[in-house]
Amino acid sequence: MTSPDRMPLLVVADDDPDERALIEAELQRRYGADYTVRICTTAELGAVLDEAERDGDDIALALASGKEGADLLARMRGRFPTARRGLLIPWLGWSRRGVGELVLRSMARGWIDLYVIAPTRRRDEVFHRTVGELLQESERLRGEGPAGAIVVADDRTARAHELRATLAGLGIPHRTLIPDDDGPPAVTLADGQLLTDPSAAELTRALGFPTELDPHEADLVVVGAGPAGLSAAVYGASEGLRTTVLDAGAVGGQAGSSSLIRNYLGFPRGLGGGELAQRAYQQAWLFGAQFRLTHRVIALEPREGRHLVRTDSGAEVSARAVVLALGVEYRRLDAPGLTELEGAGVFYGASMSEAQALAGESVYIVGGGNSSGQAALHLARYACKVRILVRGEGLAATMSQYLIETIDKDPNIEVRTRTEVVAGHGDGRLEQLELRGPDGVETVPAAALIVLIGAHPHTEWLPDGIARDEWGYVVTGPDASGWPCERSPLPLETSLPGVFAAGDVRARAVKRVASAAGSGALAVSDVHAYLALEPAERWPARR
Ligand SMILES: Cc1cc2nc3c(=O)[nH]c(=O)nc-3n(C[C@H](O)[C@H](O)[C@H](O)COP(=O)(O)OP(=O)(O)OC[C@H]3O[C@@H](n4cnc5c(N)ncnc54)[C@H](O)[C@@H]3O)c2cc1C
Repeated sequence: MTSPDRMPLLVVADDDPDERALIEAELQRRYGADYTVRICTTAELGAVLDEAERDGDDIALALASGKEGADLLARMRGRFPTARRGLLIPWLGWSRRGVGELVLRSMARGWIDLYVIAPTRRRDEVFHRTVGELLQESERLRGEGPAGAIVVADDRTARAHELRATLAGLGIPHRTLIPDDDGPPAVTLADGQLLTDPSAAELTRALGFPTELDPHEADLVVVGAGPAGLSAAVYGASEGLRTTVLDAGAVGGQAGSSSLIRNYLGFPRGLGGGELAQRAYQQAWLFGAQFRLTHRVIALEPREGRHLVRTDSGAEVSARAVVLALGVEYRRLDAPGLTELEGAGVFYGASMSEAQALAGESVYIVGGGNSSGQAALHLARYACKVRILVRGEGLAATMSQYLIETIDKDPNIEVRTRTEVVAGHGDGRLEQLELRGPDGVETVPAAALIVLIGAHPHTEWLPDGIARDEWGYVVTGPDASGWPCERSPLPLETSLPGVFAAGDVRARAVKRVASAAGSGALAVSDVHAYLALEPAERWPARR
């Protein structure tokens, strides 16, 4: 972290003297009090970067133009992991062939974080909005943002992981402090509250999120607050349905653990999964959706034309219609020693909240899919080495080409093929892994093992009346066996009338954030169609 008297740098390399002067004036006026602005030519950029590294300065943002500039920005990644890097292009530059190609290639290979259109005039707010967003991301990566909570715990323990995961799921920026003594883990909130060894529900409540669940009647109960459930909540509540959302954890689901969702419509630079979840949560809340977090739904019973939804706390909510947005859960890696070390070095899912605690450590990722690639690139900013372990011959069959290319170029990431984990060892936290590779079994030091080997739905608690496929995914619409009514089922209706499914939990769903959000919205339109039916039509005459 930069000390207050050494401000982070804003570095700009531009060879056009007029453009350079305008950018310097714009940046100095807006940011000069909080950042040191360095303006240079492309030829001078290498020396400016060397000097910053020598002096231990943080670079918050670097902007450079042209192919040479892009090359220099690419090489900054390892040296200044928290710097954001933008390729400067002139207004309308994207339409010029060479410039457009350079932007596409640089983005696809991870050389830059974004292209930035150079300002054309004083107070060019489009330019400043982009700069502001990049600076905000850099601040977050440097861990200098406002801390809503401080976790006081040995940072590699399972408890520290649980507390951080709860805070991350609630969108609360936080830091970890390692205590001097062996006292119980604690969390200090920004308002001064001190919570000693809090449960997830206590922490959630103390942060002002609703957890108390009184029995009540709702038009719509949404189970799961991932993208599908959040979308159902936004559309349900905004269209006049009294909507209650229940989630076993916080908000965001799997998407909340993704460091960067690159393919969500309308966010060309990508969007952190946690940020997307928080925005959707606020949106649903503002429309009047009632959220009750840390409540796992364990039973669903049809009763007198309604559905009774029961949670593990014993509370019951009666709903006219239910949307199941349960998502999927990660598959476990079956090797001795790993279960005991879960949360204490062994993590399922991308676990982005752990990244900063892994600074300078050796990290292993199991799995060759896109989520492994994204996790590797994110963790490589902090860890001294990230190794991706795959059982097959390579990544080509399982990972997108753009990720493979970016990983290839990252000196901090190594891919080990035909290799599997056979055991984990450590005293209270992961210290070593036993790996079996083409040359036999070896024991390696490891601070973290991130397991991303696919997922499966947790639908075993659903009543028998809800048809599932052989893998446990919920079947909807005409494909669902055992449909009991004369009317046809609605497209996202399960084989239990009035219960709908959306997102990854649905059989043959496209597992993407946009598809989950889309199906959440569609499920609500099915709910309206269902509620518009005469009561006698909604349900079979005899059940
Ligand atoms: C690391 C990673 C990176 C990804 N990157 C991308 C990407 O870049 N682009 C993209 O399009 N997709 C990406 N995905 C996929 C995307 O996140 C999922 O498709 C999406 O989150 C599915 O949304 P969902 O709402 O169906 O389920 P989930 O996001 O899984 O949410 C389900 C929610 O239901 C809750 N729940 C489950 N059972 C119960 C119960 N019984 N009671 C109460 N609550 C319950 C869970 O706690 C959870 O919050 C990524 C996934 C991962 C893991």
